[in-house]
Amino acid sequence: MKVIVIIPAAGIGTRMTSGPVFKGKKPAATKQFTELGGVPILIRTLRQFVSSPAVAEIHVALRANEIEGFRARLKNEAKDIQQKNIRLVEGGDHRQHSVANALNSISAADDDIVLVHDAVRPFVTEEIINEVIRAAQKYGAAIAALPAVDTVKQVERTADGALITATLPRERVVLAQTPQGFRYDVLKKAFDEAAADGFVGTDEASLIERSGHAVAVVMGSPRNIKITAPGDLELAEFYLKK
Ligand code: C5P
Repeated sequence: MKVIVIIPAAGIGTRMTSGPVFKGKKPAATKQFTELGGVPILIRTLRQFVSSPAVAEIHVALRANEIEGFRARLKNEAKDIQQKNIRLVEGGDHRQHSVANALNSISAADDDIVLVHDAVRPFVTEEIINEVIRAAQKYGAAIAALPAVDTVKQVERTADGALITATLPRERVVLAQTPQGFRYDVLKKAFDEAAADGFVGTDEASLIERSGHAVAVVMGSPRNIKITAPGDLELAEFYLKK
């Protein structure tokens, strides 16, 4: 059994527009290349997996025009990362397509574990990575998630804003993070079914759920944030300093 990591990093990051945080910095960096403490977020995320002994190989999905530049950057600025087998593949229009392209380019046995992790979650820990691997081996599919502390409302969007249609019992709600880990055969089947049905989900677990396979949940971390908006970057800089 080996552990293969897929990092979708082909997003355009339209929510990461310029703001006070970016004053004086190069504009238009997609969010995974935005610098956090002087190091691109994607490189920080990669280092977490490179330093994890359980991980055998890492596949990064990038926008086609960013592949060569990133390859050169790894060679020149992040030599430590090269100690692991890293492959760069072309991403797609949606996160799911980026993951599918990487999945189609890997060679794996049915019982190998595939971890998928957002490029923009650099604070993932080795402990979370190992917990997800363990649960994925045991159950076939597992994700890191957080319990909901706020009361969760279901809403209907209207032209005037949102209207509440239900209050969801929060003890029955978790907030999904990554890594999400799967046996290769479970993940491949779910991706093939989703492609055949034209289903596009916002995470891998949603594809596994619709394929009828149970997905286990392990404890994530409040620090395992997804850096999506400029405000998240401020929080990330605060975490980095601590
Ligand atoms: O945009 P979103 O929040 O879904 O991004 C989550 C992750 O998926 C990011 O790491 C982003 O780079 C990646 N992504 C991708 N291909 C896309 C869209 C997003 O690899 N077409």
